[in-house]
Amino acid sequence: AGVAARRWPHPRWVRVNTIKTSLDEQLRTTFAGYKHSSSLEQLLDVTTSRTEKLLHIDKHIPNLLALPPLTDVSKTPAYTNGLIIFQDKASCFPAYLLDVKPEDGNCMDACAAPGNKTTHLAAIADQRGVGGSKPQIYACERDKTRALTLQQMVRIAGAENHVTIKAGQDFLRMESSQPPSDGVGALLLDPSCSGSGIVGRDEVSEVILPRSELTYVPQSRSKKRKRKAPVEASQPIVETPVVPEETPLNGDDSSDRLSTRLAALSAFQLKLLLHAFEFPKARKITYSTCSVYLQENEHVVTKALESPIAKKRGWRILQRDQQISGMKAWEIRGNSQACREVSETGDVDQVAEACIRCEKGTKEGTQGFFVAAFIRDGKEQVPQK
Ligand code: SAM
Repeated sequence: AGVAARRWPHPRWVRVNTIKTSLDEQLRTTFAGYKHSSSLEQLLDVTTSRTEKLLHIDKHIPNLLALPPLTDVSKTPAYTNGLIIFQDKASCFPAYLLDVKPEDGNCMDACAAPGNKTTHLAAIADQRGVGGSKPQIYACERDKTRALTLQQMVRIAGAENHVTIKAGQDFLRMESSQPPSDGVGALLLDPSCSGSGIVGRDEVSEVILPRSELTYVPQSRSKKRKRKAPVEASQPIVETPVVPEETPLNGDDSSDRLSTRLAALSAFQLKLLLHAFEFPKARKITYSTCSVYLQENEHVVTKALESPIAKKRGWRILQRDQQISGMKAWEIRGNSQACREVSETGDVDQVAEACIRCEKGTKEGTQGFFVAAFIRDGKEQVPQK
């Protein structure tokens, strides 16, 4: 008793962009001379990693590497030319779990900027293309300034042939029965969230949602909104956490205020997910947040599954044993008590087991994160491009 859990340092995660290169090529070039560490724990051991060039090949996500926290590869040509991309391991889960295949037809990234998951999805789609038939990805981003960053990221990643950017497009205003929505078979939904799982942030301090969706936030407490300038064409793109759209709450904020904000976020996230359920050709969806809060995660998933539209369309959660290998093997799963709290049926054990959680500060080296996938069978044929 009384022994505090060790807080592990956060590794630098590097995704090899298979649109432009391969893992083998990067190991031979950018990472020539790096010693392979079979365990992430060894890599995170400061005494070892300060003296040696180390890397660890991730065992869950293909083409993902971990480097010790102090390693800087941001000046390498591989980074500046988009051959490698800085992306937290957990942030690679949604596109991998979506597991797109040519028969899925087109895809949509509903909340896309700055574009880490869009470019990852594009890389997977690129690898999976059969006979030249590659899914087209529509990347929808409501905020035009953030869409500029998305555009840069897609260009640097060499994903322009796969991605059509819908800049300034509100996903909720995309009519599901009209083109291009009516041809979309797979959606990745990674909406604005509290950002409470992001490393370096205080779990109770952030809300990242436009003021228009949080109209009750007293204006007097809000400082002027800070936006990042669009990235210069020559500038590489570092994984950009969500640009804060609200001033963080202060330490003296009441839990009432926090729960009111979380309720608003949760309602907004559920609305987006239920809109995705409406897409007529959709057969798979991933829902994710970089939040640690149950309200934004298990609560949203459970309510969505028990919604009339889910029942009408036959949406169900993708069970753990049906998940792609790396995700099936991931041990940290959802919280069944949280699912039960909001469930009307109480039939939630398999739901929690199907949900994937990541915790920050652990030896897994991830940020705090949540993802779940939904699937349904459908009789309609998905049009091939
Ligand atoms: N998926 C991104 C990535 O991995 O780089 C991060 C997405 S961030 C968590 C959420 C994004 O959704 C923000 O850029 C926000 O502007 C956008 N957004 C929020 N509501 C939206 C809506 N209704 N339609 C389209 N985009 C929206």
